[in-house]
Amino acid sequence: MRILVTNDDGIHSDGLWHLAEALSTVGEVSVVAPDRDQSGVAASLTLTSVLRVQEVRSRLDGVVVNAVQGTPGDCVILAIESILDAPPDLIVSGVNRGANLGHDVLISGTVGAAAHGYMKGFTSMAVSARYGKGDARYAVAARAAAAVARALKEAPLDVPQLINLNVPDLDAEDIRGVELTRLGPRAFVERVTKGRDGTRTHYWIAEDRILDIAPEGTDLGAMREGAISISSLDFGFSEGAHAAPLHYLVEAVLADLGIHSNS
Ligand code: MN
Repeated sequence: MRILVTNDDGIHSDGLWHLAEALSTVGEVSVVAPDRDQSGVAASLTLTSVLRVQEVRSRLDGVVVNAVQGTPGDCVILAIESILDAPPDLIVSGVNRGANLGHDVLISGTVGAAAHGYMKGFTSMAVSARYGKGDARYAVAARAAAAVARALKEAPLDVPQLINLNVPDLDAEDIRGVELTRLGPRAFVERVTKGRDGTRTHYWIAEDRILDIAPEGTDLGAMREGAISISSLDFGFSEGAHAAPLHYLVEAVLADLGIHSNS
């Protein structure tokens, strides 16, 4: 099994290396990752400048590592289209420092990288470790990701999936289960600090955690219970599952523009 590993925390993040090491027990790993922290860039691409790529020293024997002066999405596209000798069987992004939950998946570069893999037709997984005091427990999250990769290797999916894996801030023996979840509401709220330098105003956006809204059955609920969360993020692109309540909007546009619908 060929596995492409990327992340959004950058090539020097310990989470990336824990993940690459754990996945090396499952398949042949190649790393293509941003050369610096790209957290919060979502699925953005670099379209207005060249992308410089450099092969860098690997912390793991037999794992080729390319550092990209670009976004996580750039990394996945360059890897698939040009850098890798053969297409991957699986793309794994992480281990991110901090959980990626609920509606905040739309901001996450970790999820953004996996989304590009998924859009190109590959089963792709974002892996994130919640953390409190001290550093994230990357090793536990990496082991969970390797377990998923091994299961996918033994029983491949019929249709590619975009998987979001979040691991609570607990030792493996203290984790209280593994739940298949749907996305919850927002996990974070922004805090904006305003200041003055000379004649100008500056702002600083920081994300503060609010984990108190954690409905049962959601990824946030699983974190609160101390369980690992696995969500499928199809975003409803193919199913249109949540479109029915919006039919009145169709009627409104039809009416206002005087369009005569065929249906
Ligand atoms: Mn990150």
